Amino acid sequence: MEPLLFYRHMSIHAAIEEKGRSALNQIEVSSDLEALDAVRVSVLGKKGSLSEALKQLGQVPPEERPKLGALANEWKAKIETAIEARKEILAAAQIEADLIRTRVDVTLPSRKIHLGSLHPITRTIRKVSDTLGRLGFDVTTGPEVETDFMNFEAVNIPKDHPARDMQDTFFLGPGVVLRSQTSPVQMRTMREKKWPVRILCPGAVYRCDSDATHSPMFHQIEGLWVDKKVSMSDLKGVLDFFAKELFGSHVKIRLRPSYFPFVEPGAEVDVSCALCAGRNPHCQVCKGTGWLEILGAGMVHPRLFELAGYDPSEISGFAFGMGVERIAMLLHDIPDLRLMFQGDQRFLKQF
Ligand SMILES: [Zn+2]
Repeated sequence: MEPLLFYRHMSIHAAIEEKGRSALNQIEVSSDLEALDAVRVSVLGKKGSLSEALKQLGQVPPEERPKLGALANEWKAKIETAIEARKEILAAAQIEADLIRTRVDVTLPSRKIHLGSLHPITRTIRKVSDTLGRLGFDVTTGPEVETDFMNFEAVNIPKDHPARDMQDTFFLGPGVVLRSQTSPVQMRTMREKKWPVRILCPGAVYRCDSDATHSPMFHQIEGLWVDKKVSMSDLKGVLDFFAKELFGSHVKIRLRPSYFPFVEPGAEVDVSCALCAGRNPHCQVCKGTGWLEILGAGMVHPRLFELAGYDPSEISGFAFGMGVERIAMLLHDIPDLRLMFQGDQRFLKQF
């Protein structure tokens, strides 16, 4: 063998050994998967150091090539094994680090969750709707901006009728008002569908009035039952059931004659004081009278049936209406109406 070739042969041998050992060192110290992959590319890649050394094989005698080739493959296998081993260690370390970084301390106190509660007005509307819903009353709603006709004339309050003085109305423009009662919903329903009708109309109503017992916006629930042979005793039965469900099975109701333009006859309805039943002359709730007024009611005026397109000789019906705030105050012992519109958390949290 020529000295030059021998030298080349030896230098390739040494180069392979040297590159191999260097690669093993780099693998050992690579600190993450990215660095490890960089080592793999720099040694085993197409232009990697081991590949470059093998390209020199063409310069050694053919009989030496298999030995050098075997040596290169041996190193290649060693390096690949080392890379796999290091990869496993680094991946485990990575998982460990992730676990520590995202660890949840289950002993820490949790963040407080603030739950809202239903407003007493919403609760009352739902309670009344649920109670009368069991008697077959369907909840129906209508617009708060109404025509003058629907708000007044359709409930038998003509333009020059003194009943218009009973309430101060917000006029939005010629012939357009903020409804001062929920009665227009009853007329709208009767005009849209044929009898029988059995509905409840809850909603906001508006009047120019504001003091300790009046708010310019408040809520009403009106009920209407129209069918063949509906009588005053049906009305009394429904209201008696309603009062007992709301205030307790021991309460009684009484009807006092009264006037509302849309009913004939009309009555104001009282419920006996659930607290003292009239036995305490100093009762805070009933002021010693033993009775609390809860709603107005009566038999639907035949004029309304005519306006609705019904034949008053065929059918009859009753209607009743109550102030939601008044019922809520009685149910929850709320002393001042204004509490319900101030949005005070300390008040609302109690429900
Ligand atoms: Zn009382």
